[in-house]
Amino acid sequence: MDETVEQLLQLTAITSTLMAIYDADDRLRYANGAFRSAYFIEPDEAPLWPDLMRRNFDLRRGTVIRGTNFDEWLRSTQSRRGKIGYRAFETDLVDGRWFWMTEAVQTNGWMLCIASDITSLRAKGRNVRQDRDQAIKASQTDELTGVANRRFVMARIEDMLIASQGGSDGCLAVFDIDNFKYINDRLGHHAGDLVLRDFAHRIHQSVRRSDCFGRVGGEEFILVMPGTCAEDAIAIVERMLSVIRFSRPLPESPDFSYTCSAGITACVPTDSASDLYRRADQALYEAKMSGRDRVRAA
Ligand code: GH3
Ligand code: MG
Ligand code: MG
Repeated sequence: MDETVEQLLQLTAITSTLMAIYDADDRLRYANGAFRSAYFIEPDEAPLWPDLMRRNFDLRRGTVIRGTNFDEWLRSTQSRRGKIGYRAFETDLVDGRWFWMTEAVQTNGWMLCIASDITSLRAKGRNVRQDRDQAIKASQTDELTGVANRRFVMARIEDMLIASQGGSDGCLAVFDIDNFKYINDRLGHHAGDLVLRDFAHRIHQSVRRSDCFGRVGGEEFILVMPGTCAEDAIAIVERMLSVIRFSRPLPESPDFSYTCSAGITACVPTDSASDLYRRADQALYEAKMSGRDRVRAA
């Protein structure tokens, strides 16, 4: 191995700065001793990030998770994690330490996390800063379903269009639940809300970390897929529709099922966000006109 790389690895082993690398699937592929000790990871372990967070939450250690609903926290955090090139935030551990965590993401989805202990720095005003971070999080999250909201996904479309001007692939999918008015009218608004939640939670589970999924209004959702060709995007969305087809979201009506339609379009370097959205919407309209419960690509 190159001497400099070897030295770098030896130095990361002794520093108290936390260092880790996650791959595009959010699996931990490298972590130094400081990181492993802060998050209770065995030396040869390579957990997926959500599994690591869940395990520590269950054992009341690692990251402080406010509130009692872990899945809600996970959904909201995952809806924003690893979707922009760089972000930095204050985070605290159950042991009382505070860290300044930075995340840098490459276009191939690999992520470098570096965190420094700031427990004794700027402790004053921390509550105010936490409140501000909470408010920012709320401004990017859809209240009913807990996934990203319109504001956040629209910004990811803009990011994808910038990358497409540099020659990258990218696709946008628009989803709309079929006959939703009928569900509301026949089973009530509460059942309608349960269906919306079920849809968001099920799709969220199969969203890759580099993609961004969110609710843009009513029963309409979008999926932003940077670095993805049309063929792959169609396969991804087809799989999602079949997950929905098999869902039985209403405990009081165990036979009730629902479907959704989707329109997909690929980025063209000259596109504006509204050009892209309009084409995806047109494809969605064609999916509806040709019988619903299907994907159409523009
Ligand atoms: P199509 O298959 O053509 O999409 O038919 P549709 O009935 O789903 O389409 P339409 O757009 O006519 O109906 C959407 C309905 O969604 C109308 C509105 O009452 C309902 N809706 C919008 N937002 C919410 C919400 O937050 N909760 C519930 N329960 N219903 C909502
Ligand atoms: Mg609609
Ligand atoms: Mg609809």
